[in-house]
Amino acid sequence: PDAWDVAAVRRDFPILERRVHGHPLAYLDNAATTQKPQAVLDALDHYYRHDNANVHRGVHALAERATVAFEAARESARRFLNAGSTREIVFVRGTTEAINLVASSFGGGFAEGDEVILTAMEHHANIVPWQLLRERTGIVLRVLPITPDGELDLDALPGLFSPRTRLLSVVHVSNALGTINPVRELVAAARAHDVPVLLDGAQAVPHLRVDVQALDCDFYAFSGHKLFGPTGIGVLYGRERLLEAMPPYQGGGEMIRTVSFEQTTYAGLPHRFEAGTPDIAGAIGLGRAIEYLEALDRDAAEAYEQRLLAYATECLTQVPGLRIIGQARDKVALISFVMDGVHPHDMGTILDRRGLAVRAGHHCAMPVMTWYGLPATSRASMAFYNTPEEIDRLAAALQYAREMLA
Ligand code: PMP
Repeated sequence: PDAWDVAAVRRDFPILERRVHGHPLAYLDNAATTQKPQAVLDALDHYYRHDNANVHRGVHALAERATVAFEAARESARRFLNAGSTREIVFVRGTTEAINLVASSFGGGFAEGDEVILTAMEHHANIVPWQLLRERTGIVLRVLPITPDGELDLDALPGLFSPRTRLLSVVHVSNALGTINPVRELVAAARAHDVPVLLDGAQAVPHLRVDVQALDCDFYAFSGHKLFGPTGIGVLYGRERLLEAMPPYQGGGEMIRTVSFEQTTYAGLPHRFEAGTPDIAGAIGLGRAIEYLEALDRDAAEAYEQRLLAYATECLTQVPGLRIIGQARDKVALISFVMDGVHPHDMGTILDRRGLAVRAGHHCAMPVMTWYGLPATSRASMAFYNTPEEIDRLAAALQYAREMLA
């Protein structure tokens, strides 16, 4: 019944054949960034080799080709999120820029004493932009706590809404714990208070299918590089009605209609939010990554990842002294762990010597670490191209680290 041909999928990713320190690479750092399929590498090369020109303003053949390819990528992103219109798809550098855009532009309308609800599970990208806004305007941040299992404490949510609540901004999937948050419930709760919702989808889109209309969220942000696409490109989905009313984020070329020293009029959606020459190749590469995913059986990919997660959880649980941090009922294939007596950075180095790429640190989610009273964890984050053999190698290396260091 295994509909997932992992060997065939691995052949699409040239880097997975690489060796590291004499061992086959076992790339288990997919939450940091994912590897790129040949199709994406080819799309980048083809664009620069054949069609490179600036977009939206040239009258010549290449400018036209570049513009068509760039806007086709926007349509791919729209389809991927099931947004109603490409007017709702803004290209940004990544999740970080998407959230900064919302904080700066949408949040620019907030007044002193207005409230934004975040959670204790957020990546710094969904904390710091709101603190910068707090410094500028005096908004108040309210934080939904998490439970020992690493789930959101939903019982505490009703008490956080007030007549001053202007936004609920929540991570869809935690990069530190792997928790899949019940975003439909969260949106429904916010709707009941007429509060718009931003979802940080950086870790969700590589694992789950996302439909912004079904979710009924107002903003959705993700990064191309975590979705098997290039770095430097990402997407902000925004509900058209909200984007329409928002002022530009940055000023410059591409985002204007007319400019004089007395007055400037802005371009329509989505270009009003895309000042300057965009990452054209990046967008085209992201569009190609999306097409690559669309050609896969994503249900089979998800089921395969869940089997891999169950297997990895079982293997790691058997390693003496190892503790898994975050045991939510709904998780993506990501395991954060600590081992008694072994610092995560030493652990990372030992694993690296064996060709195993994991991450060690606070995962840009220091409040999560603080909550668990840990300075850092090690994190193995899987994608649909990882294998049970790689998990066996990880478990063996962890046993070894335990014997050597603990
Ligand atoms: N949010 C989450 C949940 C993330 O995992 C990340 C990346 N680690 C980000 C936001 C920021 O993404 P980027 O660095 O691509 O802007």
